[in-house]
Amino acid sequence: MNNMVSHRVRSMLFEKRETILKSAKDGMKTMLSGDVREILGPGFDECDMAVISQIEDMQNTLFGKQAYMIKSIDEALRRLNNGTYNICDECDEKIGEARLKAVPFTRYCRNCQEHYEALRRMATPSRHAL
Ligand SMILES: [Zn+2]
Repeated sequence: MNNMVSHRVRSMLFEKRETILKSAKDGMKTMLSGDVREILGPGFDECDMAVISQIEDMQNTLFGKQAYMIKSIDEALRRLNNGTYNICDECDEKIGEARLKAVPFTRYCRNCQEHYEALRRMATPSRHAL
């Protein structure tokens, strides 16, 4: 990977990181200001409580995802620094350029990712199967 490309990838990753951080902060503000509870008013009943906790769950899940993305981006930046950015963590093969463009902070080549996802699907049986 030449310097030009790695420079471009680096600024792209930084930009993405900023975007995620910003949207996480905005989401956090909404949550902290208690908007949801305010909209429902002081007299909310059990049913409303269920809605509130559902929304809060959703927000937590979202933050978890954002935190995971930021971790992945940091990891990608680290790998960019030590020159292993486009090397698959699993099989040491080069990760394809198209794949890096689509998922700039991936750690795995397409084969390994597909393998990993197949394993995960087997580990978590889908609800539809029941
Ligand atoms: Zn691989």
